[in-house]
Amino acid sequence: MTQNLLGFSQPQLEGFFSQLGEKPFRARQLMKWIYRQEVTDFADMTDLSKSLRVRLTQCAKIQPPKIVHQHVSTDGTYKWLVELEDGNRIETVYIPEERRGTLCISSQVGCSLDCAFCSTGKQGYSRHLRADEIIGQLYLAYHALNQISPDSAHRLITNVVMMGMGEPLLNLDHVLPCLEIMTNQLAYGLSKRRVTVSTAGVIPGIERLAEMQPVSLAVSLHAPNDDLRTQLVPINKKYPIEKLMSACQSYSELGPRQKITFEYVLLKGINDTPQHGRQLIELMKQVPSKVNLIPFNSFPNSEFERPSKKEVARFFSQLNGAGVLTTVRRTRGDDIDAACGQLVGNFMDRTRRSAKYLQIQQGSLV
Ligand code: SAH
Repeated sequence: MTQNLLGFSQPQLEGFFSQLGEKPFRARQLMKWIYRQEVTDFADMTDLSKSLRVRLTQCAKIQPPKIVHQHVSTDGTYKWLVELEDGNRIETVYIPEERRGTLCISSQVGCSLDCAFCSTGKQGYSRHLRADEIIGQLYLAYHALNQISPDSAHRLITNVVMMGMGEPLLNLDHVLPCLEIMTNQLAYGLSKRRVTVSTAGVIPGIERLAEMQPVSLAVSLHAPNDDLRTQLVPINKKYPIEKLMSACQSYSELGPRQKITFEYVLLKGINDTPQHGRQLIELMKQVPSKVNLIPFNSFPNSEFERPSKKEVARFFSQLNGAGVLTTVRRTRGDDIDAACGQLVGNFMDRTRRSAKYLQIQQGSLV
């Protein structure tokens, strides 16, 4: 069986080469070929010995997934529909801004958490992405951007956020090697501050991330009290706010940025009243934090509404006035369904929602 070496971290590649009886520095050479040169054919890797190239061709491959559609928004946002070997499809989004370019990648096919306002969750859950499929999204995006703007693709992607489909902290076995590749100078060489993992609040995952690959952390809070949060983000039942805040406090002592970003989707009349604002301000005092408000992005059959601009401004001023560092996320790419919470992909083996609730309640999902 040929092994796909895309998505192997440097230590994993060193292990692979040692099994072949090769020196560890081969891993460094291979990483540069794959991620810096975009070379996938071993025959073209000229600093490897001829015999090693032949051996690698026999036992290994470097195979990214495939882009099947490229959508371009009027605001310059790109969305790629990416097809995996098994026919499942996921989405990856590139958001260019004046001084940075952010790639938003997926970590699972669908999502098991079923947050009330998220269209990915409504689609159900199929499976974890493997490391080659996660890092493959960077590989494809660099490649696609390179076609559009040769020589500058590495500058065009300055930040990576794991805010696409899925819950990255439920798939850490595959996410961790990818974070190593993103931040490794032999590969994409992004600073840990510019790589962000976003979580709905999986506490053991936050702890493991802190220990293994502390990158920037974003937490999808969305409600300032447990009653409301459990309705909006059902995993709150298992990992309630107080415990979550204490995990965030520990993370902020270890992570590359002291501040944790708290994402807060604004749902008209649900979590955007002055009372919610007051509760949120109290919570934010517990942890070095900033709040990123995301006015709700709608999707077919969604039961929520986006607050008016005036209401968003009011909530913002309330937090800001109380000294909470707050930003409002500008909606990007909604004409191509690329905005937060609008990603759906196209996949098979969806679990039914009712079955998922049962699993969460029984604690078997997390
Ligand atoms: N599971 C992780 C990664 C997904 S990130 C997490 O929950 O953080 C996607 C971000 O977009 C999350 O903050 C999510 O809550 C938010 N989001 C989901 N649906 C949305 C919608 N319809 N409008 C605006 N933001 C949404």
